[in-house]
Amino acid sequence: MTRTVIVGGGMVGLTLARLLRARGHDPVVLERMPPGAYQRRPFMLGFQGFPALEDLGLLGRVRAAGWDIAPGPDGVPVAICLEVGHLLAALGEGVPVRHGVTVTALAREGGRVTGVVAEGPDGAAPVPADLVVACDGVRSPVRAMAGLEAEVSSLADATLTFMSPRVIDRSFSMRYLSDGGQMGLLGWPEGSAGWRTIDRVGREAALAPGVAAFRESFARLMPEAAEAVAGVTSVDQLLYQEPAVLRAARWWAPGVVLIGDAAHFFGPETGVGAALGLGDAHALAEAIASHPGDPDGACAAYEAWRAPVIRPYEAADPAAGRMAVPNVERPPEERWPPAG
Ligand SMILES: Cc1cc2nc3c(=O)[nH]c(=O)nc-3n(C[C@H](O)[C@H](O)[C@H](O)COP(=O)(O)OP(=O)(O)OC[C@H]3O[C@@H](n4cnc5c(N)ncnc54)[C@H](O)[C@@H]3O)c2cc1C
Repeated sequence: MTRTVIVGGGMVGLTLARLLRARGHDPVVLERMPPGAYQRRPFMLGFQGFPALEDLGLLGRVRAAGWDIAPGPDGVPVAICLEVGHLLAALGEGVPVRHGVTVTALAREGGRVTGVVAEGPDGAAPVPADLVVACDGVRSPVRAMAGLEAEVSSLADATLTFMSPRVIDRSFSMRYLSDGGQMGLLGWPEGSAGWRTIDRVGREAALAPGVAAFRESFARLMPEAAEAVAGVTSVDQLLYQEPAVLRAARWWAPGVVLIGDAAHFFGPETGVGAALGLGDAHALAEAIASHPGDPDGACAAYEAWRAPVIRPYEAADPAAGRMAVPNVERPPEERWPPAG
């Protein structure tokens, strides 16, 4: 049986660990953060992540914790909007995680990765593995240590996101600005959130006009967000980001493989990053289970299954399109921060 070390106990690492355990494996999960730590954020899980949850018997529970977005005639929604802590808690149940442990190096033998060096409260210790799985997020230290190069492209715009305690009357709404920039609104049983593309001016300048001006401008451009944005009373509820997209030409080398945000990161319009990460975990768990003691065979099968799924999303990312087409000037009422 393949000894798997999973670096990162976020959404994708926990999903992989849970799926491997369901297949009789006992992976080691190493996570640098303490238990229960996560970034609160607006969050929708796309349908691409549903099969992994179904495999784990969690889809009904996750749907019940959130609100459906656009259910089709078969009753299946295109996405679920929920407080992300519910999803992480559900995925993490029964999964042993070594918290407070940071992977600082890869062990190698004859050109193959054979484990990691993990630094925790008791110092540094080697953890041997047949396969190291990088589930360590978009900045992925393991990806860099493995020498698997990633192309990172900055987007033309920044985004300004708000989080609100107000419960609203819908799970989702979206509008486009005149230049192709985007505004979105998400609602779930405990709150709501929204975001919009703005000029890349830096955090200080983006927040300088203050929350009252932000509320007024957002609600004018997106009237259905008025109730949600009315709950924004402090700049602490606003998040300024300068997103980038990431594409890795290769996802694996002997003894190490990248999945989730470590392997691909999309523009904010897509809303599929987490769902595709869960799909990665599903495919890799199946590949590991069906290639006992053959991690390279598992990685090759994984790549063959996932490339036709992931590469088209990378090619069709609207953020890339917006990078290719120069910005037209936004009309003054759509500018943030406001002109003058
Ligand atoms: C504001 C915001 C809104 C988002 N909204 C959506 C959305 O609506 N829909 C969607 O699909 N996606 C969304 N995303 C993206 C989504 O959150 C990610 O795609 C998803 O969390 C990826 O999971 P992951 O496990 O690959 O990475 P992460 O969640 O980043 O987890 C990586 C983990 O690895 C750990 N780690 C890192 N380095 C080490 C190390 N050296 N040793 C040990 N542990 C390490 C980290 O502590 C972390 O816990 C959003 C992201 C943000 C920031």
